[in-house]
Amino acid sequence: MDTAKTQTYDYTEPVLSAKGQRMRDILTDYVVMVSHRLPDDITAKLQELQKVEVDPVQKLFYDTMMENQMLANKLKRPSCQDTGALQFFVKCGAKFPLLGELNDILKDAVYRATKKAPLRTNALQSFDEFNTGLNIGDGIPSVFLQVDGNGSDIQMYVYMAGGGCTLPGEAQVLMPGEGYEGVVRFVMDRMTSYGVNACPPLLVGVGIGTSVETAAFNSKMALMRRVDSQNSNANAAKLEHLLEDGINNIGLGPQGIGGKKSVYGVNVVNTARHPSDLGVAVSTGCWSHRRGLIKFDEDLNYELPYNKGVEL
Ligand code: SF4
Repeated sequence: MDTAKTQTYDYTEPVLSAKGQRMRDILTDYVVMVSHRLPDDITAKLQELQKVEVDPVQKLFYDTMMENQMLANKLKRPSCQDTGALQFFVKCGAKFPLLGELNDILKDAVYRATKKAPLRTNALQSFDEFNTGLNIGDGIPSVFLQVDGNGSDIQMYVYMAGGGCTLPGEAQVLMPGEGYEGVVRFVMDRMTSYGVNACPPLLVGVGIGTSVETAAFNSKMALMRRVDSQNSNANAAKLEHLLEDGINNIGLGPQGIGGKKSVYGVNVVNTARHPSDLGVAVSTGCWSHRRGLIKFDEDLNYELPYNKGVEL
């Protein structure tokens, strides 16, 4: 294959309205912040797990992660060298005023955040096999948009999907007779085979739906949920606890060196399914789980529910 090392990605900065530029600038600063500051729930869980391990080597790993985070916040440098591939999961009302500019705003925010932070560049153009050097490319950032109701607000999860923690991801449609025992077998197979590659402790997202794409999407939304939350369905919440116990018993420990715990937690997101199909998917987030949530009103006043007290 011709790797064409001299190829470049043709990017022209978009012409945005004044309001669009303001949203782009806020999101640029937000992506930079997400790159170095872990969300509140993950920080709290990291501190909790640090106290659980008593072995000196395991403690050293947790101490190093905590020091890494202290320095990342202080120096405003990325928590991990792997920027990941940027993903946005967006829900907005039909009357949000910048809906038509949204794709350009998000792409340009990633482009600018990459220069501002700076962030390692990860977007590799498939088949042409060259890195754009910009962290944007065809389909990167990924934008999953859901228009919900007639309101004028917007909320979006921002996720830096790291290479190692994306690796265990898989989706499959099970015969319905395999039941939720089949779901457990599927998740445990992935975690015992690939969990160690994903820089534990992990946040494990399990999606249940009809088909591979609905299950996969649900598993990603499970990673967006707070680690200290639980599924509102009692049976799904029970599955979360059972899987958490099971994966902890693998004993991955921090960075896979072994230990009492493997995970921050397990989140299940489920939707209704066809009776003949039991779609299941697993996605994993790593110890440096850089995901954020930002909510705007139509005047671009914003809230950062996952980063209390932070202003951009
Ligand atoms: S899995 Fe996470 S912590 Fe490990 S290299 Fe990738 S982004 Fe960094």
